Amino acid sequence: MPPSTPSPEELSRLRQRARQRLEELTVLLSVFLDRAPLLKGAFYTAQVRCGSTGCHCVAGEPHSLKFLAYRGRGRQRNLGPSVQDLSLLKTWTETYRRYRKSRTQWKQAVGELWGAIVALERHRLAEGERLFGRTETGRRLS
Ligand SMILES: [Zn+2]
Repeated sequence: MPPSTPSPEELSRLRQRARQRLEELTVLLSVFLDRAPLLKGAFYTAQVRCGSTGCHCVAGEPHSLKFLAYRGRGRQRNLGPSVQDLSLLKTWTETYRRYRKSRTQWKQAVGELWGAIVALERHRLAEGERLFGRTETGRRLS
């Protein structure tokens, strides 16, 4: 079946998807409208040998340390976070990551919603043309 004449099932799915995307957008909007600060960066764990003579890491397992890959102010810097800041910085960077992920999802959902809007318009116009052709006025065209 050509795309200009979708089946009633396809149209129903299209409407359903459009409603789902809109619900998704509503949820995503709450991520954007939140007031929590965002920090450009991410935490990662690295295996490090501290260099102290006599430390177990000289011969054995290295230390597993958390670092902040901070990407604010134009360039990336890897920082060892202070223990007292750790929880706060994690929250801010995780909120930032969620924000960015939501942005991507927003674009995707808007694209799909727009696709549905255009497809439904195309179908409804075709239907309008078909019915118009059956009216007295429409018959004056031929
Ligand atoms: Zn060590």
